[in-house]
This record gives sequence, structure tokens and C-alpha cells, in this order.
Amino acid sequence: MTEKTTQIDTLVVGAGQAGVAMSEHLSNLGVPHLVLERERIAERWRTARWDSLVANGPAWHDRFPGMEFADISRDAFATKEQVAEYFEAYARKINAPIRTGVAVHKVERNEGRPGFTIATSEGLIEAQRVVAATGPFQRPIIPPIAPDDASITQLHSSAYRNPQQLPEGAVLVVGAGSSGVQIADELQRSGKSVYLSVGPHDRPPRAYRNRDFCWWLGVLGEWDAAAMKPGTEHVTIAVSGARGGQTIDFRRLAYQGITLVGRTQAFNNGTVTFEQDLAENLARGDDNYLSLLDAADDYIARNGLDLPEEPEARATLPDPQCVTHPLQQLDLAEAGITAIIWATGFAVDYSWLQVDAFDANGKPRHQRGVSSEPGVYFVGLPWLSRRGSSFIWGVWHDAKFIADHIATQRQYFVYHDSAQAQHSRVQNSQAQDSKDVQDSPVRASQAQDPQVQAAN
Ligand SMILES: Cc1cc2nc3c(=O)[nH]c(=O)nc-3n(C[C@H](O)[C@H](O)[C@H](O)COP(=O)(O)OP(=O)(O)OC[C@H]3O[C@@H](n4cnc5c(N)ncnc54)[C@H](O)[C@@H]3O)c2cc1C
Repeated sequence: MTEKTTQIDTLVVGAGQAGVAMSEHLSNLGVPHLVLERERIAERWRTARWDSLVANGPAWHDRFPGMEFADISRDAFATKEQVAEYFEAYARKINAPIRTGVAVHKVERNEGRPGFTIATSEGLIEAQRVVAATGPFQRPIIPPIAPDDASITQLHSSAYRNPQQLPEGAVLVVGAGSSGVQIADELQRSGKSVYLSVGPHDRPPRAYRNRDFCWWLGVLGEWDAAAMKPGTEHVTIAVSGARGGQTIDFRRLAYQGITLVGRTQAFNNGTVTFEQDLAENLARGDDNYLSLLDAADDYIARNGLDLPEEPEARATLPDPQCVTHPLQQLDLAEAGITAIIWATGFAVDYSWLQVDAFDANGKPRHQRGVSSEPGVYFVGLPWLSRRGSSFIWGVWHDAKFIADHIATQRQYFVYHDSAQAQHSRVQNSQAQDSKDVQDSPVRASQAQDPQVQAAN
């Protein structure tokens, strides 16, 4: 018995925020579609993040335009459960055709006919288009320098849940973007001795002159930046909504008890060595912080806004000892380090998408999500169209562009199909006419008359 193949116009893979946004826009444009999610809606917000995580942006900002968060104030930071519930409620509100618990294993282009054949955990699907909405952060990266030492517990930030999960002893957190810095803070507050390895970073003020940084990045056009500034590819952003939302200030964290170190260089025979770049990295973060204050002041002056002055925001704590006399190396056993948390980012994994849409390094080849393989789209990737692309509010706008592209492409096929149908009708009627002529004795004789043929 042959397996039944489901036919669908557009298949969306993944029902995180990107998949839900795609579904909304495709529905608005009347594009028949199906969203397949291997687990649950917004699964990564439920189970791939630490217990105490809250959104980095306030509820008025980190949401889709069509719905507010229920039950929390607009300026509060939603917990990860509230974010997951928000997307589930959103999917219900827009009646999104999502099938959960179905994994997509393989997508291949059809040979000699349009569309794709998709192998899923529940059988085959044929779709004219496929949208990959499987997330910007798919495969945790632990760099090859990680020590091969069974006596040390090593976790990626995506596997960290809470301090109780770790053995007794000190912790080295490698990476000080939003995840690393929040995890280090939580571990230190739980009573652990913590070393935090800090690389190049941006650290916008949580708020300035009574406006959250999300507002500032918005009005200053920063969320819309089309590409990373050259040389900033390895710069993380350190922000946090934890405990009501505070500016990340590495010197304050040091005075709180965290030992800051430079970038982690290598592990050899139980000793870890650090780059001597801590002061430089902090100075760079300060520059970024101050440049945003300057831009905000200019904006306020230019627009005559009535927002309270905040000169104290420019005050800097003196450099703590770990900055003035940075550690070059550390004996892990002597320091009592029993765990390392790698907050070192993620890579994508499109092994299931076996189409011509990737460059030699395996990176998606696309323009604003429209890939080099006609009919294949990406949504939710960092910098897909702008800085905001991988964030909640940004993905909604990218999804709109992609849905519009899909609807336009469908129009070409509607034209093609109707033009073909018209062409066939004309051909059929001509064939019928010619049959009628052949069947009619008078006409047949006329047709054989060279003069009649010429007149035709
Ligand atoms: C720690 C952390 C905190 C963040 N905080 C914020 C924040 O506060 N505000 C903000 O705007 N952004 C934040 N982000 C960034 C971004 O919003 C999230 O990463 C978000 O989860 C991305 O949504 P997505 O839909 O693109 O991808 P995901 O949430 O990763 O969703 C992809 C979905 O695809 C499914 N899937 C994958 N492969 C398959 C397959 N083969 N078949 C079927 N289904 C599949 C997965 O199960 C998953 O549910 C944060 C990111 C991290 C890592």
C-alpha cells in the first residue's frame, strides 16, 4: 500500500514566534499553509532556557502588534512561561493551522515539476513553498578549547537551569552577553564564587531619561540597522530584564563579588589562561553605553522632548582590582572551579533542508529571507533584514515581507495557470473547428480550394 501524501501550498517548519508570525501573514493574504512543530508552540521559551529567565525587553515592546500581554504591566518583563503562553494564545487568536509533535526530517526539491517533497515523522507532504522558521539559535556552540576533564561539569547556557543543578564549588562562566552575564549574576547571588570571562560587548543603558533602551533603539533607528557595523561580528549585547531590569555594569558585578577575566584563551593541564583584553573590552562597552546616552540627549534636544535630565547615568565606578590587575591564568583546582558554563552562542542546523540555499560555509544564502532556491524562505535569523530580525517584534515584520513575496509568486502561477487554460481552450476550439470543417462536405471542399485557404 502506498503512503498518502498531503498536498499544501506553503509549509512552515517550526512554531516559535517566527512560525506563528508567518502563519498570521500568510492567512491575511489567503495563502493556504500548514505549520509543523516537532514539540510545542514556543518550545524553546519553555524548555531551552534557564528557570528564572525573563524577557530582555518590556512587555509593551517584546510582543506582536496584534496583541498585548495579558495580566502584566506594559513596563514589566514577561517571564519565559508568560512569553510561551503569549505565543500559544496568539496562535489560537489567529487560528493558526499548527500541527505540534510533528518533526520535519527532510525537504527535497521535486525533479521535473514544481515544489518540494517533505519527509516528516507523520508521512510525506508536498508543498510548493517551504519556510524555515526553526530558530536563530539551534545548535549550542562549545568552542574546541573546552577542557577534556571529566572532573569538571560543563554545560552550555542552553542547558543551564538554576544554581542547584551545579556541583558544590566555584564556576567559570565563559561569555558575557545577555545569557552569560545573567547566569553569572544568578550564580554569584546564590552564594557561589564566580569567574566571568568577558569579551567585546555592547551594553546599552537599561533605561535613560525615563525611557527603556528598547524605545531608544527604536526612535534612533538602531533596530532597523541593515547590517552589523564592520568589525562587530563577535560583539555580544549585554542586557537583562532580571529583577525589574537593570543596566549591565561589569564593574558593579565585580564589586558585588564576581571576578572578571578577559576572554578565555586555552586550558592546559588544569590551568586556564585568559587574554589580556578585559580593560579594553570594558572600555569598548563603556563607549557603546555613552554613545547611546549622547544620541538620546541629541534626540531629546532636537525634538524638544520633556524628559528628565539624568547626569548620574554618566558616572562610572572606579576599576576594581580584577580589572587593574587582571588574572592571566588560573589553576582550576586551586580556585575550586568545579563547573564551566559556556555562554558562547549557537549555530544553525539546516541538515534537514536539502536544497540549494546555502553557501560554502553552510550559511543560508538569501535576501531578506528569500533564498537562492526559489520557493525556500528563511525567517527569524539574526540580521535577516535588520538588527531586530531575530527578536520578537522584528520577526513579525520580516514574516510580513516574506508572506508578501509568497503571495506575489503565487500570482505569477495564477496567471500562468489561467493563461494556460485559455490557451488550451483556444487550441481545443480550433481543433474542434478544424474537425467540423473536415466533417462538413461543403467546407471540406472549400478547404481544399487554394483560394479559400489563402483567404483564411
Ligand atoms: C536566552 C535567550 C533569551 C532571549 N530573550 C529574548 C527577549 O527577551 N526578547 C526577544 O525579542 N528575543 C529574545 N531572544 C531571541 C529570540 O526571540 C528567541 O531566540 C526566539 O526563541 C526565536 O524564535 P524563533 O521562532 O525564531 O525560533 P525558536 O523559538 O527557536 O523556534 C523554532 C521552533 O522550530 C522547531 N523546530 C526546529 N526544527 C524543527 C523540525 N525539523 N521540524 C519541526 N519543528 C522544528 C523547534 O522545536 C522550535 O519550537 C532570546 C534568545 C535567547 C537564547
